[in-house]
Amino acid sequence: MRINFRGPFRAKHITFLTIFVILLFFLFTAGFYAYFPLFHPTNDSQKQTLQSLALVLQRQIVSSADRARRSHLRTTAENQLDALQTLQDKFRAGALSLDEAQWLAGSIITGRQGGKSSYNFAIDAQSTIRAHPQSAMIGRTYHGKKSNQQQEIPRQGFYTFTTHDKINQSTAVSKLGYVTFFKPWGWQIITSIAVDEAVAFINIEDIQAAIAQTPSWAEHEIVLFFQDGHIWHSKSVKENLSAEIAEEFATLAEKVWEEKNGFHSYSWIPSNSSNPADKNIAFREIPELRLIAGITAPHPRPDMVIVFSPQKLLPAFAAAFLLALLLAYFATKILVRPLIQFVQHTAQNISTFEPLHLSRRTYKELAQIGSTFNILTEELHQTKEQLNAEQQTSEAVHDQLKSEILTREQTHERLLSEIATRKSAENYLQLFKNLFDHAIEGIIVTDKDARILTVNKSFTDITGYQPQEAIGRNPNMLSSGQQSANFYRKMWQSLQKNGSWFGEIINRKKDGTICPEWLSISQLKDKDNNTTHYFAFFHDISELKEKEKQISIMAYRDALTKLPNRAALEARLTKAISKAKREAGTLAVLFIDLDNFKNINDTLGHDKGDEVLIQVSKRINQVIRQEDTLSRLGGDEFILLSESIENESGIFHLAGRILSCLQEPFVIGFSELFINASIGIATYPNDGKNTNELIKNADMAMYRAKDEGKNKFVLFTQEMHENFLTHVRIENSIRTGLQKKEFIIYYQPKIDIPSERLTSFEALIRWNKNGLIIGPDKFIPIAEESGLIDKMSLYVLEEVCIFLNKLHTQGTSLLPVSVNMAPRTFNNLEIVETIDTILHKYRIDHKYIEFEITETTAMQDIHHTLKTMNRFRQRGISFSIDDFGTGYSSLSYLNEMPVSTLKIDKRFIDANDNHSRSIVSTIIAMSKQMQLKVIAEGVETGEQLDWLRTLGCNEAQGYFFAKPMPESDATQFIQNG
Ligand code: C2E
Ligand code: MG
Repeated sequence: MRINFRGPFRAKHITFLTIFVILLFFLFTAGFYAYFPLFHPTNDSQKQTLQSLALVLQRQIVSSADRARRSHLRTTAENQLDALQTLQDKFRAGALSLDEAQWLAGSIITGRQGGKSSYNFAIDAQSTIRAHPQSAMIGRTYHGKKSNQQQEIPRQGFYTFTTHDKINQSTAVSKLGYVTFFKPWGWQIITSIAVDEAVAFINIEDIQAAIAQTPSWAEHEIVLFFQDGHIWHSKSVKENLSAEIAEEFATLAEKVWEEKNGFHSYSWIPSNSSNPADKNIAFREIPELRLIAGITAPHPRPDMVIVFSPQKLLPAFAAAFLLALLLAYFATKILVRPLIQFVQHTAQNISTFEPLHLSRRTYKELAQIGSTFNILTEELHQTKEQLNAEQQTSEAVHDQLKSEILTREQTHERLLSEIATRKSAENYLQLFKNLFDHAIEGIIVTDKDARILTVNKSFTDITGYQPQEAIGRNPNMLSSGQQSANFYRKMWQSLQKNGSWFGEIINRKKDGTICPEWLSISQLKDKDNNTTHYFAFFHDISELKEKEKQISIMAYRDALTKLPNRAALEARLTKAISKAKREAGTLAVLFIDLDNFKNINDTLGHDKGDEVLIQVSKRINQVIRQEDTLSRLGGDEFILLSESIENESGIFHLAGRILSCLQEPFVIGFSELFINASIGIATYPNDGKNTNELIKNADMAMYRAKDEGKNKFVLFTQEMHENFLTHVRIENSIRTGLQKKEFIIYYQPKIDIPSERLTSFEALIRWNKNGLIIGPDKFIPIAEESGLIDKMSLYVLEEVCIFLNKLHTQGTSLLPVSVNMAPRTFNNLEIVETIDTILHKYRIDHKYIEFEITETTAMQDIHHTLKTMNRFRQRGISFSIDDFGTGYSSLSYLNEMPVSTLKIDKRFIDANDNHSRSIVSTIIAMSKQMQLKVIAEGVETGEQLDWLRTLGCNEAQGYFFAKPMPESDATQFIQNG
């Protein structure tokens, strides 16, 4: 496409355009001024100007009048002062008396009237009027004008006030006063004048001078219209006014007086001209001077001279400038259009390498640039193509290089990875070699035909064979011959089938010793699944085996007696039961418990006790058959399992043999001990079908044997089982009985033997079961076994407290009550605190409570006994050792205990044999020695009492005096003395 880069203007046109714009600017400014009149003041604007000038004039005249008034008053006053001074001088000179001088002064003051409303007067220092135009006023006191709220008369100076017209009282007259002070007499001379009268003093020249000083007023004329029709002009007026003008002027004066403030036009002949001229006048009234002041100006005309005014020039200049700017903008836009087009095309063509097609009408300069552009474009195009070709070549080379680098990098990485693999393989090889060399296990590697290829060091350590002695041989070189051919066959079968085998094997070392080993063999196969190698790990487990054996012995043996323990017994018994069941046979379980073994332990110590147990086990083992099993359950409990029982008498014989083998004394150290045993027997299948049942029932039978006096055997019976059930039932009923408070307390008195007086009571529990009174022997043992005894003991104590409380309330004298304390309760760690709480609850003094514990209880845990007793003792509670003589007491400990009383068991009192008698007398003698009180219990006869008295026994308790009695009877007993 041919492009025409040509616009409406050439460069030279710009010059013309600029000149044109400047011309236009001047033309426009001139034209603007040609319309000047339009901007000149109009009649209206002149009216405004004149009116504001009239206002100024009004103010000037008012202030001029004021000045004139004040000057008049001051002059008048000063004249008076001069006159007064003259009179004073005369008085001084003696020409006049003071009165005369003052009388003359008064006439001077009052005689000098400035106008019709003006008058003067004088007052002295006492406000007495000394001079006044109205002679009646003289001598009066002047009160001032305060009542009219006027300005107070100053001591000296001007003041204004309002008064009433002398004739027409309703008309207010504004007045101006001036006060002078004549010091010699202390007189104030007041001169005043009505404000409107001051017009007479207006000095027209003053006003003229003021007007003359205001330059803008030069063209103006001032006209004053007086109320009396007189008119004053500031400029001279032609004397002979045309009648027409004079009339118009008179009409104007009328209008002025009518409107008072306003504006008018009128015709006038100035003094320097014979032609009438139109004039405007603005006027304002000055009422206090009763005149109207006007200011005139010639009527404005359109042909007035052009006046230079910067305010008017500025908008004209701005408008012309804007217009010129607009024109310049459009001209420039048109002028540069071809250039912009040119630039756009070159920008387009440069990217496409298209040459510019220039028409012949294109500007010369642009055409030159265009053709240069075309040449350059062409060159650029060629260079670019050349560059492209070179770039392609370079890119191809670059790609080739890149691919080569990539291949090299891959190769490098592969090499690195291979090196790493090889290194790792080497490491592993080294590691495996170390493992092989240092493994604790013996290692054998064979070929597929089980020929030893290599062995490690541990192999040599375990078997004693050097590698060279083993390599090439079959591992069966280690065979001990203790395993059957079948064992080896199975091993090989497993190896072939599973690829591995592990288990225990007994091998033989080079030195011929047998060695149990834990062996694990694995097959190694190639990728075609053909066996290539076998390798075997093994370690010596002889030590482990030995330990196992020991553990098994320990697990099933009693460490002390080496007899089978409970677990072993249970295992054997289970086995024996199943055998007996199978063969319809019988077996017997004998539960053997040594009698009073605890005493041996407590008194002789555990070492001796252990020795006794060993000897007992040996003796029993000697009297039983080989096939019988004697086991130890623990403590002094043994169980004999006899599988060779034919009938009941066989059992009796066996039990009898056991009891008799123990009859002989046991020599422990230097002492001889007599040991008995109680045996309970349960048989299969009659007394139990399983191990637990048989052991439990034999145990029950053993307890019966104990109950029946020990050192005997008892066969389990069904009745025992029922007793057991009864036992359980009773236990439950005790529990509920305690809750229902079925237990009651009986009190048995204790009597002082010498005086036969009641000293105290013993509290004895009874069970009131549905009206039937049951003794403690029926339930105390069950309560003790079940643990209910603790609750029961506290129950008794509470009941005793309640009883004592009752006695106290009744006013009956209190006596101590002894309470039996079961071993279990006494051994309770918190027993002291518990009892404190109960006594505190019922507010019972500790001294009224005594505890009875058996000597067995006291000796059970000496440390605890001493501690507890001492704590009770501190509180005032004393202790008795009950049933003394029946148990084992350590006299040295007894001596340490804070015990107050020994109670001799009733069986010694009751027994009528020498042995018992000597025991009683010994106990009494010993008590005296130990300074303990002694009580004999179970005293039933007078003879017993006499005998005890002779022995020196302190107190007695028994049916001879009274049986245990209920609470009410006990109260009665006390009251009867
Ligand atoms: P114990 O403490 O030795 O009580 C004395 C026993 O002898 C009482 O039997 C009493 O009734 C009885 N007795 C007293 N004088 C005579 C007599 O002249 N002739 C005969 N034949 N017996 C006499 P009881 O009340 O049957 O008590 C038996 C045992 O029960 C008491 O023996 C005591 O160990 C225990 N017991 C009784 N009450 C309680 C109690 O509240 N708590 C505890 N833990 N045990 C108690
Ligand atoms: Mg007792």
